[in-house]
Amino acid sequence: MQEHFHECRNIQSAVAPCPAPAYLWAMPALADKIAACRLCTEAFAATATGHAPRPVAWFAPSAHVRVIGQAPGLRVHESGLPFNDASGNRLRLWMGVDRETFYDRARVAITPMAFCFPGYDARGADLPPPRICAETWHDAVDAALPEVRLTLLVGAHAQRRYLGAKSRMTETVRGWRDHAPAVFPLPHPSWRNTGWLKQNPWFETELLPVLRNRVAEELGGET
Ligand code: SF4
Repeated sequence: MQEHFHECRNIQSAVAPCPAPAYLWAMPALADKIAACRLCTEAFAATATGHAPRPVAWFAPSAHVRVIGQAPGLRVHESGLPFNDASGNRLRLWMGVDRETFYDRARVAITPMAFCFPGYDARGADLPPPRICAETWHDAVDAALPEVRLTLLVGAHAQRRYLGAKSRMTETVRGWRDHAPAVFPLPHPSWRNTGWLKQNPWFETELLPVLRNRVAEELGGET
């Protein structure tokens, strides 16, 4: 998709104004800017992994479905592919989509609360997404995704920013009907939440069937 935009821009600028809406031109520039971001260089260097920023920005302006998660894990950091891990497998199962559909960025935008792997804490758990990331980028990303009709808020960080949620994640997700059909708050699909899923069977029996129907509606029934 982005390659197309670059190609169109080059061809069209030589012959005539491109007919695409103005917001389309902002997209490659925005994705490129995020990919080049190094605001957290010092913070990441001070973590146990001592890694450098590697922003994983995965979106195109035509997307109808948007996934707002927490932050990439180490495996995503290494591969550059969002949700390319066990959490992603579970999320795709929840959504009822295969990998090909999930990674079609023309249809599914993946814009976490931080675009880089934040490192580990002393217990070996992922550090929270650095707040500076959403503060720096998310307003622009919101504006660059005008076609989104279904948003998945995966985890408490996204729910706080986009719903103003003050309650615990469980209560926010339990109140999913207050936000559907446009927005679905979800727990993080990490293996760490397997116990949570067992304790809250309504999530799989009540929420997931409705979510899968909505995803199928927005992705043209090609799930
Ligand atoms: S986490 Fe966000 S703000 Fe920090 S370096 Fe990565 S893209 Fe930039």
